[in-house]
Formats: sequence, C-alpha cells, structure tokens
Amino acid sequence: MFRYETHMHTRETSACASASGAEQARRYKQLGYDGIIITDHFFNGNCRREIKEGAGWEEKVELFCAGYDAAKEEGDRIGLKVFFGWEYCYEGADLLTYGLGKDWLLATPEVCLMNVFDYCDRVHGDGGYIVHAHPFREANYLREIRLLPQWTDAVEIYNCGNADDRMNDRARWYAESCGLPITAGSDNHHLTAARLSGVITADPLGGIEDYIDAVKNRRVIPIVPPVVYE
Ligand SMILES: [Zn+2]
Ligand SMILES: [Zn+2]
Repeated sequence: MFRYETHMHTRETSACASASGAEQARRYKQLGYDGIIITDHFFNGNCRREIKEGAGWEEKVELFCAGYDAAKEEGDRIGLKVFFGWEYCYEGADLLTYGLGKDWLLATPEVCLMNVFDYCDRVHGDGGYIVHAHPFREANYLREIRLLPQWTDAVEIYNCGNADDRMNDRARWYAESCGLPITAGSDNHHLTAARLSGVITADPLGGIEDYIDAVKNRRVIPIVPPVVYE
C-alpha cells in the first residue's frame, strides 16, 4: 500500500502557511508517506501578496510555483514524490485542481479573468481534474456553501481543517448522493499539524495523471485519522 497527501500548502506561496515546501517534504517522508501534492492557494485565493503584485504574468507564475519547486527539489533529494496542483477559490467553493502544470499557467494568463464555469470547462478541456475541497466547511471566511456537482469531478469527503466532523459527514453524503468519486486530504499548512489525512493506493503513483486515474476509477482509500479532543 502507498500513502499520499493530496491537499497541502507551503509558506513560499500561501499567505496562511508557516511550513516551507522542503520542511513539509521532510516531514511527510519521515512519517512514511510516498508522496505529496502541493496545492497552494491560487491567484484568486490566499496566496502571498508578493505573488498578486508580481510585475507580469510570468513573474507571478514563477513566484506561485516557488513552494512546489522547493518541495520537489527536496523530495527528489530524499526520495519522496512531489506533484503539483492548486486550490482555486470561488467565493466559498475551493476547487483543488490537478493535472495542469506551470506550462499551462504560463500559457493561460487569462485564467483569473474567467468566471468559475469557464474555468472548469477550460481545465477539463485541457485534461485537468477538479476536486471540491471541504464543500461543507463552515468558517468565518466562508459566507455560504456552494455546490457545483456538474462542474467538479470528485469530492473531498474528509479534511483535517474542518472544525467539526459533521462537515466531513455531509461531504460524504454529498459525494454519495451525486455519485461522485471521493478523496481525502489534510489541508496542512503547518509542521505542527497533529492530524494528517490523504489517500492510500494499492499501486504507486508515478505522476499526477496516475493520481487522477486512481480517483476517477475509485481506487483511492481515504485516510480518516482518529478524532483528537482538545
Ligand atoms: Zn490557507
Ligand atoms: Zn487548502
């Protein structure tokens, strides 16, 4: 069995993260994970101000990829797979986007000018895959719950960042009710994160395409850590 983190942030790119890409890579390696997918907050989400204020699109993309690049470099050194993704933000709906790389970003400077529906169409048209992260999270920065079953491919049915497990239970119900494949992720921002999630696969993942394939074909097992009462 193989273990992968599917949802995590780095301080190089996300304004709310304190762990660097390299630190995260080392921690996950130490914990026995086989790979991690870096999903920093996208240009329309909580990415660092320096990125939003980058001089031109190319510079913004370079800065945006810094967290992934750092994690990848360390992962290559220590023997941990590191894949690329991001977390697109649509007013309460956070869409983990996989399967598209830096080249796609460089070639798509209009990505943040499109509405969410055109974004989903474009991502799908170009071979990307969209997982709705924590669809039922309630938090002060989220004003409403927005469900997009016909625009997304899968549902994150467990997320360590949800304050109440009922938010995870609702996500599982939503996925089952709409017949959507499921994933799980930690939404890890810090080295101190006590509970970690992710997915288990029977076969190793060689690239992000293998991950997409595994989710699509319902071959991932969500990792649901035990509840910690604080
Ligand atoms: Zn964040
Ligand atoms: Zn996140």
